[in-house]
Amino acid sequence: MYTTRPAEFAYHRPASLDEAVALLTELDDARPLAGGHSLLPAMKLRLSTPSALVDLASIPGLAGIEREGDALRIGALATHTAVAGSDLVRAECPALAEAAALIGDRQVRNRGTIGGSLAHADPGADYPTVVKALGATITAVGRGGSREIAAGDFFTGLFTTALEAGEIVTSVRMPVTAAGTGAAYVKHKHPASGYAVVGVAAAVSVEGGACTRAIIIIGGVTGVPVAAPAAAGALEGGPGSEEAIAAASAKVPEALGGAIGDTYASAAYRTHLAGVLTRRALAAAFERAA
Ligand SMILES: Cc1cc2nc3c(=O)[nH]c(=O)nc-3n(C[C@H](O)[C@H](O)[C@H](O)COP(=O)(O)OP(=O)(O)OC[C@H]3O[C@@H](n4cnc5c(N)ncnc54)[C@H](O)[C@@H]3O)c2cc1C
Repeated sequence: MYTTRPAEFAYHRPASLDEAVALLTELDDARPLAGGHSLLPAMKLRLSTPSALVDLASIPGLAGIEREGDALRIGALATHTAVAGSDLVRAECPALAEAAALIGDRQVRNRGTIGGSLAHADPGADYPTVVKALGATITAVGRGGSREIAAGDFFTGLFTTALEAGEIVTSVRMPVTAAGTGAAYVKHKHPASGYAVVGVAAAVSVEGGACTRAIIIIGGVTGVPVAAPAAAGALEGGPGSEEAIAAASAKVPEALGGAIGDTYASAAYRTHLAGVLTRRALAAAFERAA
């Protein structure tokens, strides 16, 4: 039967991280609740039927954005609006602010959180692509204590992550963009939802006019964001010119086996778009590196 009402669930609003971890450990099939912008729609469609929700909103210290050495520490409950509007993120990690500003609509950006987006691991989400390209580290707390997971190891499949049952993402550590490096995120939005049909994050380092390192991550095309190492490798040692970028972008499809196709965009279209958006992301990244 089609319904737009969730199945019955219990609601808990712990005031500390310890209490939240205890609830998630002790209760059967309990789930953390952050902005609710992915979880609640899934519950209303009964795609998700947790027995209890553990609302993270009253736990202090989970929403801040601050500089810690050569990185930014972004609390899991920082909303997309807070990330997009943060002077610190815009100055030190512009590609992340760029991605946050492109998410959904104003209502989604005002409620949705970075921790919720990463934990949900939607293939059309924007943050996963960017955090992987920028070498972020995700901190999670569970009954075994706190641990750090490299973004490259975090996304393990469609809507699946390296988080263990009951673990809560508490923050994301984003390295700041160093001198001589540049990064950018560009996407083609689904016209109805805003989700990425394809999103590309590119990061480059330049020294003496030559590219010394390039990373290209493609989101939206496969179940998890994937690297395009042949395309990135083609840039290294060269000038980052328009021709070099075009030649490198032509290699992107090699990385995209198993592309997703749906009623909006076929697998072939997504694969083609990935090459086009890679050109744009690389051009912006090289411009920033200069
Ligand atoms: C109309 C619409 C358009 C959207 N468009 C986009 C878009 O363009 N790009 C995009 O990236 N996203 C988009 N989204 C998704 C949006 O960004 C969500 O906010 C995000 O995916 C989930 O964040 P949340 O805070 O709402 O998490 P919730 O919905 O509360 O939770 C999502 C999942 O993560 C778990 N979870 C939440 N927080 C934590 C935590 N700290 N630790 C561990 N697990 C946690 C929950 O248990 C649940 O399984 C859209 C959503 C809607 C409704």
